[in-house]
Amino acid sequence: MKLLLHACCAPCSVYCIKQLRKENIEPVLYWYNPNIHPFKEYEKRRDTLLEYASSIGVEAIIDDTYGLDEFCKNTANNLENRCTSYCYPVRLRKTFEYAKENGFDAVSTTLLYSIYQNHDFIKSYCEKLSEEYGVDFLYRDFRFGFWEGHDEAIKAGLYMQKYCGCVFSEEDRYVKKIKTKPFLPEGFEFRKK
Ligand code: SF4
Repeated sequence: MKLLLHACCAPCSVYCIKQLRKENIEPVLYWYNPNIHPFKEYEKRRDTLLEYASSIGVEAIIDDTYGLDEFCKNTANNLENRCTSYCYPVRLRKTFEYAKENGFDAVSTTLLYSIYQNHDFIKSYCEKLSEEYGVDFLYRDFRFGFWEGHDEAIKAGLYMQKYCGCVFSEEDRYVKKIKTKPFLPEGFEFRKK
């Protein structure tokens, strides 16, 4: 199966790639994350992914759109719902579009790994895109490997970001000091970092 795996960052990719390889699926990574700001942070996460991919022999395709302007224009009037109204849709749609244009059989995303992302929305949105584009959606609940992936990413010396991505999430983290409520699957054991 020719799988295009949207990758939000290197640390979230570790467990997903490992699991897919256990199933004999060799993913091609797809970087399209115009939600990461400011630019130096964007660069750091992109380069970390590229270095990691090369170190484990995985192909990575980069769409190098730094989308601060567009992101702000499309979210500023509805900040509270920015993740589901714009951020996930724009990235996932682009991934399906690329997969369709370039002959991939299926799409998945490392967004399904983080317990801090809206898992159910991402899953149902990908299902919708799958129908729209006629490209399969490979669903896995990668969240069960959250701690395993986290520990391996640290061991590999990967850059571990401190906030989700957009300038607003950086403000939430450092200025408003909002604690993100995790989206946990049933039976998942939460532990303190
Ligand atoms: S908090 Fe994260 S998922 Fe939500 S809009 Fe910002 S970067 Fe996107």
